[in-house]
Amino acid sequence: MKKIALIFSFLGVLGCVTQKEKSENVFFAGQIVNPTDNAVVLYSGDKVIDSTLLDKNNRFSFQLSNIKDGLYHFEHGNGLKKELQYVYFEKGDSIQIRLNTLDFDESLVFSGNESGAELNNFLIDMFLSHEEEEQMIYRQVYSYEPNQFSRFIDSLRSLKISSLNALLSEVEISKTAQNIAQASIDYSYFNYKEEYPFQHKRHLGQNVIKNLPVDFYDYRKEIGYSNSHLNYLRPYHDFMKAHIKNLSFANCSFDCDSVGRTTRNHLHVNRHKLSLIDSLVEEAELKDNLFRNVAINYLLMANDSEENIETFIDDFRFRSENNRHREEIENLYERIKKIQPQQEVPNIKVANIDGKNISLRDISKDKKVVFYFWSAADKKHFKNIVKQARHLSNTKKDYIFVGINIRTDQATWKGMVATAGLNKELQYKANDFDEIMKSLAISHLNKCVITENATILNAFSDLYATSL
Ligand SMILES: [Zn+2]
Repeated sequence: MKKIALIFSFLGVLGCVTQKEKSENVFFAGQIVNPTDNAVVLYSGDKVIDSTLLDKNNRFSFQLSNIKDGLYHFEHGNGLKKELQYVYFEKGDSIQIRLNTLDFDESLVFSGNESGAELNNFLIDMFLSHEEEEQMIYRQVYSYEPNQFSRFIDSLRSLKISSLNALLSEVEISKTAQNIAQASIDYSYFNYKEEYPFQHKRHLGQNVIKNLPVDFYDYRKEIGYSNSHLNYLRPYHDFMKAHIKNLSFANCSFDCDSVGRTTRNHLHVNRHKLSLIDSLVEEAELKDNLFRNVAINYLLMANDSEENIETFIDDFRFRSENNRHREEIENLYERIKKIQPQQEVPNIKVANIDGKNISLRDISKDKKVVFYFWSAADKKHFKNIVKQARHLSNTKKDYIFVGINIRTDQATWKGMVATAGLNKELQYKANDFDEIMKSLAISHLNKCVITENATILNAFSDLYATSL
């Protein structure tokens, strides 16, 4: 109901707009409330097309000439709390946004006097309503049996399509823009169906992958692997990732010999994914992006043997020699090799509470040390991680738990350490945020690095891991 009301309120504003001679330029401006950084960066695909600094009122503007109609995205914020949202531009658009970093997605409102604004608002509206539905679907709907699940998802999709049709009957929107709106609806719901076998199993413990009705995946006839204008649309990209994962598991169940199936592990499944992307996807940029996604996830999360990691990277190079993200992945691979078990702890300097520098290597010397990480940007995480570290220091008395703060100013950091009553001797602050994130491959804040006498034991553990 809320959504319908929203759409009509836009129509009210737009009703009086008359068709003007279209200029070639796009004007994009806005204000950021509670900025976490001083810049806004605008992207087309993975390329930066422009960036600008906020002025003293936290406002920014871009005057863009000669840009193609289509989907762009912009980012604001620092490493740990980088926010991203997409925006649709058409020649002649003048789009203003206002957003609050404390509630980035909810606060985003587009306004403007050309056709781009209503599509942008429609996209953000869809995105927010999906966030609400997603919780319900994960909590309950995935437990439904296949036919009931399909009917439920199809009915949600129909409602969204009706909203879109209502919008289209009132305002004039270009064909490309219509396709993007339609795709953002379709692929969101197709994605749930791709996830269904995995999530259903989590709910009920039953493997339904071989017992799905014949028409369960009928929508796959409608999907496209070469819609370059959708490459950076989040629902499309997310769908592709889930689709490849689902097909990989299905292929493994049907095609692999019994040896292959019983040795099913990270490496095996991820090599299935590489091979599927290779055979299925033709559009070069989508293909590169999907290869990249598989490689980065495998490298950051696999916690696999050095030998397996090498096999994977060889396969990646073989299949995607000229990948546009090749350098990024090779660099990550080099860093991952340096933090394998028995390697020396990287020689990264951190500051103690008195501002004195000391390296991680020295902190771990002659001791067993578990490094964990936190930032003032996530207070809830800080509260939980401190509790967990305290619990672990009581149960694992041979280890010392050392907190490393990233990206917090000196005064806030000291204040948080004092207020939480932490042992100051065991708290340090990273000097170079980017260096430590990259060297230790920190992809999430529950990660911990287990060391003994300046040597790595496990750089891919988690402070909540049962194996710790
Ligand atoms: Zn297999």
